Amino acid sequence: MPVEKLFWKDPYLTKCTGLIMSVDGDRITLSHTVAYAFEGGQQSDIGTIGGFEILQAERDGFEIFYTLPQNHTLCLGDNVEVCIDWEKRYRIMKLHFAAELVLELVYQNFGHPEKIGANITYDKARVDFMWDGNISSTFEFLNDELAKMITADHKIICDFDDVKNEHRFWRIDGFAQVPCGGTHIRSTKEIGGLTLKRVNPGKGKERIEIYLAD
Ligand SMILES: [Zn+2]
Repeated sequence: MPVEKLFWKDPYLTKCTGLIMSVDGDRITLSHTVAYAFEGGQQSDIGTIGGFEILQAERDGFEIFYTLPQNHTLCLGDNVEVCIDWEKRYRIMKLHFAAELVLELVYQNFGHPEKIGANITYDKARVDFMWDGNISSTFEFLNDELAKMITADHKIICDFDDVKNEHRFWRIDGFAQVPCGGTHIRSTKEIGGLTLKRVNPGKGKERIEIYLAD
């Protein structure tokens, strides 16, 4: 059985207990986890397993392999606590969903340009498009729409559309349903406020950087 990914069931869970299911030197697997592993542009969580720092978290199929310090003392079958850095995760959840909204608004209102990259970190999110001209011409519209969506406090529904293959989606009724395996906030109001910034990463390409207003 691959690890039970509690970060999907409840993305607000900051700790859980789990059994050590395998130990291969510094790499271990768990029965249950709250610690997200990098996927879809969302960074891995910072955290600890049995008190040892998670140095790396990697998805491999349905499994997650966590790398711990070489001198960890965890053994097969140990019952351990898994903790994440909630402040970092929550910022990333807000920026992640802000990026989802920006992407959808651009798709729906500006001719569905090709997305060529996206990344979400603690400080900012970014979405890159194939785009001729200066994408900041969309910002007045985007800022208005984002502010309206945040104020409207839309409920964000998350679920599997294919449990066996672990395909997930998020949906805002009347707005969009989008496949994504990331961790999502419950409502748009949690984002607070946003600032958009334009970057030109190369000819014919445009980047929207997204910052939380705090
Ligand atoms: Zn997402």
